[in-house]
Amino acid sequence: MQCECNVVVRLEEGLHARPAAQVAKLAKRYAAAVEIAKGERVANAKSTVQLMLLAVKEGEAILIRADGDDAETAVAGLADLVSGGAGAPQDRPAAAPVAAPPPAAAPPTDGALHGVPASPGVALGPAFVLLPEHVAPPEHAVPPAAAEAEFDRFTAAAARVAAMLDEAMARLDGNSAGDRSEREVLQALQDLAGDVELADGVRTAIHGGQNAARATLHVGAELAGRLAAMDDAYLRARAEDMQGVTRRIADTLMGVAETGLHQIAEPSVLVAADLSALDFARLPSGRLLGLVTTGGSASSHVAIIARSLGIPAVVGIAADPPALRGVRRIAVDGGQGRVLLDPDADAEQAFRLRIAQAAADRERLAQFVRIEPRTRGGRLIEVAANIGGPQDVPAALANGAWGVGLFRTEFLFMRGRAVPDEAAQAACYAEVLRACAPHPVVIRTADIGGDKPLPGLGIETESNPFLGWRGIRLCLDRHDIFKPQLRALLRAATAGRLRIMFPMVADESEIHAARALLRAAEAELREERITFGTPEVGIMVETPAAALCAGTLARHVDFFSIGTNDLTQYVMAADRTNRRLAHLQRADHPAVLRAIELTCQAARDAGIWVGVCGEAAGDPALIPVLLRLGVTELSMSPPLIPQAKKLVTEQD
Ligand code: PEP
Ligand code: MG
Repeated sequence: MQCECNVVVRLEEGLHARPAAQVAKLAKRYAAAVEIAKGERVANAKSTVQLMLLAVKEGEAILIRADGDDAETAVAGLADLVSGGAGAPQDRPAAAPVAAPPPAAAPPTDGALHGVPASPGVALGPAFVLLPEHVAPPEHAVPPAAAEAEFDRFTAAAARVAAMLDEAMARLDGNSAGDRSEREVLQALQDLAGDVELADGVRTAIHGGQNAARATLHVGAELAGRLAAMDDAYLRARAEDMQGVTRRIADTLMGVAETGLHQIAEPSVLVAADLSALDFARLPSGRLLGLVTTGGSASSHVAIIARSLGIPAVVGIAADPPALRGVRRIAVDGGQGRVLLDPDADAEQAFRLRIAQAAADRERLAQFVRIEPRTRGGRLIEVAANIGGPQDVPAALANGAWGVGLFRTEFLFMRGRAVPDEAAQAACYAEVLRACAPHPVVIRTADIGGDKPLPGLGIETESNPFLGWRGIRLCLDRHDIFKPQLRALLRAATAGRLRIMFPMVADESEIHAARALLRAAEAELREERITFGTPEVGIMVETPAAALCAGTLARHVDFFSIGTNDLTQYVMAADRTNRRLAHLQRADHPAVLRAIELTCQAARDAGIWVGVCGEAAGDPALIPVLLRLGVTELSMSPPLIPQAKKLVTEQD
């Protein structure tokens, strides 16, 4: 029996990866052959990959066609799904890895490798090297008579990879948001491992004479290439998934064992090319002594996360993967950016002494954890914490944080496959506010863009993302993202002392537009009889324009928080992720200090408070300077707080 029906796709973001996977899953339940056509192009509805390559957007018409005994039920079920019926999936993007600059060759001079100091402290321990070696597939050809048996080997390997992903999903307890998002990632990979387009391509390549491993890599590269050429960043990001899955199937066929972060069995120093926020989220806790990467820079997010976890880290070391793979032990000096591979007995001893010294220092600083941070003159300086979500609050409080001075909410958005909805955001913000009460919490609205892209939002590739559509600029154009966040913040404001902060402000009009939207959100909540609070409203001063016009901007806000990471990169015209320019990324450069001074002067004149939430806030050399300029709040990675409090007590 044949049946067909035209339907308009009503899924947000169209037939993206998750909805495509759900359509394919449903289609596979029917015996009928099912196709989905968009114009002239037709996809097998049982293949996630073919559906993704069809690139159907929300609002576009498609034809669903089925042929088989249950054709009618198949068409009805799929039409219901894609038109937003009961079973309709909600799809949202996953985190994109932070782009790393290519390593440059800089020969070590003292037997040590040198990189960018990214997170202070010293570490020594066994090396866990996560630099997978890509084994070349065998060359041998497969004769036609052996082709089906060879294809069976592929099928078995793909099934083994799917089973391995199943086991990984079973290990998650499923209760936390992190587990749920990881499960979605693993599920998406599993869908690709079992995809019919992949299997058909491999079968054809094997019948053309290729062995299974070569055919898998060949077809994987071809499909990844097609995904990478899509005009949608989220689907382009799936190219990496495809490459990863086919590489694993090929490795299984070749008997190459897998290396993954979950295999870190004992406390180790991790060596990797780069780590995304998602990788960090998956790390078994307490097993990371130190971190060394070949990519990244001091203000890239891998460095920020390492600092917030108190893990000594050196990024951007100049070393080839083969030189790192055989290493058994590593010593890391995160403050000086030095890394020793397989240190000799003397070097090991020296590092042990320094680790003991650091522990003694921590002990000495423990007395400052609970003090009220006042200068000798009695001025209260709020020494607060930078966080990426509620999971960071216990460490912040344990270190004596005076609340939160920067909650980077885009990390929350990047953690899962889905941008959290208004209710989930409100619950999360309220949790942080309650935990920090009576201290204040500065929650920054999503700072998407720059080195924190969020695929799937239809953000075009920009030639200069740091000067592009990011922060408040993006939010003011995307009320679908901004408004739910503002409503969630207002709803959460009843749970504690909330301060809302807008990032990347360059012009007064942006403050007016953001405040207008905030008022509109208040009006809606009032209308809907939903209780909400009245937060303070401030901005980050991190563009030269904001610093130069701080006097004008100060009239429209309750506070300033200086983002020295971006302010430095823009004042010095030095990309913060480019490790070749690390010498220019100095917040203590006279030009940057002048911009900070202008901002503090404007705040003082307008009678508003000014804080610093960039990395300079935790820098012992800069804290006295910032306090002299009139800063009354310093927000930093939690492990730096006790030392900053001590320094505050030593200033006039
Ligand atoms: C900054 O730019 O200094 C800042 C604190 O924000 P982020 O590092 O998240 O860009
Ligand atoms: Mg910034």
